[in-house]
Amino acid sequence: MRRRIVAGNWKMNGSKDLVQQLVGDIREQVSNLDDLVRSGLDVVIVPPALYVDSVVSLCGAELAAGVQNVSQWRSGAYTGEVSSDMARDLGCQYALVGHSERRQLFDETDSVIALKVARVIESGLAAVLCVGETLEEREAGEAKRVVADQVEKGLAMVGADQWSRVVVAYEPVWAIGTGKTATSEDAQAMHAEIRGVLERINAPSENISVLYGGSVKADNAAALFAEPDIDGGLIGGASLKAEEFVSICRAFP
Ligand code: 13P
Repeated sequence: MRRRIVAGNWKMNGSKDLVQQLVGDIREQVSNLDDLVRSGLDVVIVPPALYVDSVVSLCGAELAAGVQNVSQWRSGAYTGEVSSDMARDLGCQYALVGHSERRQLFDETDSVIALKVARVIESGLAAVLCVGETLEEREAGEAKRVVADQVEKGLAMVGADQWSRVVVAYEPVWAIGTGKTATSEDAQAMHAEIRGVLERINAPSENISVLYGGSVKADNAAALFAEPDIDGGLIGGASLKAEEFVSICRAFP
């Protein structure tokens, strides 16, 4: 059975005070969701790397932590980089890889992303491979091809016995931070496509969680999570408000 996952990507937001407040509030409210957590829901906090240590110490058993990015290298003279082993050392269970902001603003290519996925898995974390088309690509009818290509190339180095450490997050670029969510039907169609690609590359597609991201809010999460191939969400803006984030965690059918 696939795990359900709701992960809050804080991006470059937050402060020591916010960490204390927000993680405390989320944890308090999530502990009322015992039944959900027991039924296989992972609630994941993905803060900026500098705050991971504090977040992990506040997470308790109810929450998991992740990093937003890791280096493709193991260790060494790479000033400013953070390794997946370090993330693991601090207690992270997840690492995002290839977020569209990394692809667009930091020129991450599919081959670098494939290396990062391999590195994350090797460190014992779950890699959340982020994929998604731009508005121009969607309007040109290229969305499925672009996303399939990103999935295939991003997962090119995953070994046959490593699929349990892979999660895919479909985040259409035009829906990120814009308030425009894909309709649940469009999102479902792309998730089904992604599952088809996973099958093609001999991954156990029925066991791999595929998350949706892009302007997920408390009021649209239920429709998205009701779709058969949507296993949860990768949440940006709405993950910075405890009540809204926890409402999203409650939105599974
Ligand atoms: P928003 O939820 O703010 O649109 O961001 C989505 C995202 O990029 C999560 O990784």
